Amino acid sequence: MARLTVEQIQVLSDNYVYLLHDPGSGATAAVDPSAAEPVLAKLEEKGWRLTHILNTHHHHDHTGGNLTLKQATGCTIVGARHDAGRIPGIEVELRNRDTYMVGGASAMIMEVPGHTVGHIAYWFPESHALFCGDTLFALGCGRLFEGTPEQMWDSLCRLRELPGDTLVYCAHEYTQSNARFARTVERDSDALKRRIAEIDGLRAKGLPTVPSRLDEECETNPFLRADVDSVKRGVGLPDGDPARVFAEIRRRKDAF
Ligand code: ZN
Ligand code: FE
Repeated sequence: MARLTVEQIQVLSDNYVYLLHDPGSGATAAVDPSAAEPVLAKLEEKGWRLTHILNTHHHHDHTGGNLTLKQATGCTIVGARHDAGRIPGIEVELRNRDTYMVGGASAMIMEVPGHTVGHIAYWFPESHALFCGDTLFALGCGRLFEGTPEQMWDSLCRLRELPGDTLVYCAHEYTQSNARFARTVERDSDALKRRIAEIDGLRAKGLPTVPSRLDEECETNPFLRADVDSVKRGVGLPDGDPARVFAEIRRRKDAF
C-alpha cells in the first residue's frame, strides 16, 4: 500500500489546501481546493499532474477551485453522495465506509455530519493521515451550521477512535483562537498549557500548527473531551451526559 506525500498550501486568509501525491503511480489529489491558482502554482512547482479533487463538504471555501481545476487538468471530482447536489462538478459520490483509491493509496470514507449534514472525512491508514475539513480542528471543531450537537458528538467520537498517531489535517488555521477558548474550559490542564506554549511559539514564527496528532487532540481538545470529568465540571455540568456537555461547550465557543 502506498504512502502519500502531503504538501500544505495556505490560501485565502486561513484555509489550508492539501496536495496528496503517490510517488509510485503519480496520482495527485487536491483536498478542498478553495481556489485554483495556488493549487496550479504548487503543481507546477512540484512537477505533479492533478488527478483528483477530494471535497469534504460543499462550502465555497472548500470547493471554489473545483471547476477551474477540472477544466485545467481533467481531474476527477470526488465528494459525498449526500452532498451531490451542491458540490460543483462532482463525479464520484461516496458514502460511509466506502474505500476510495488515489493511485495506490486507499482512503476510508467516514460520514461525519455536524458542521454540514453531508460532511465526510478521508482517512488514509497507511499514511496515518486524516483529512477532516471543518469537522475537527486543532483544539476545536466546526460550527454546527446544519447538524445537531448529537450528530457532531457522534462524528467526533468516531474520529477519536482512529489510531493516536494519526495526523489531523484540518482545513483552517484557527488554533490560537481555539486555544484561548480551550483554556476557559480546562484551566488546570498542564497538557493544554504545554500545548498552547508550543502553538504560540509556532505562530510567532509564522509556522502552521496543522497537522496535529490525534492523541494530542484527545488529550487537550475540549470538543473531544465532553465525557471527561474535568471538562464536565469546567462547563458547569458535572453530571451531564456527553452530548449535552458537548452542546454546552459548542454554545460557549459560539458566544466566545
Ligand atoms: Zn465549512
Ligand atoms: Fe471552511
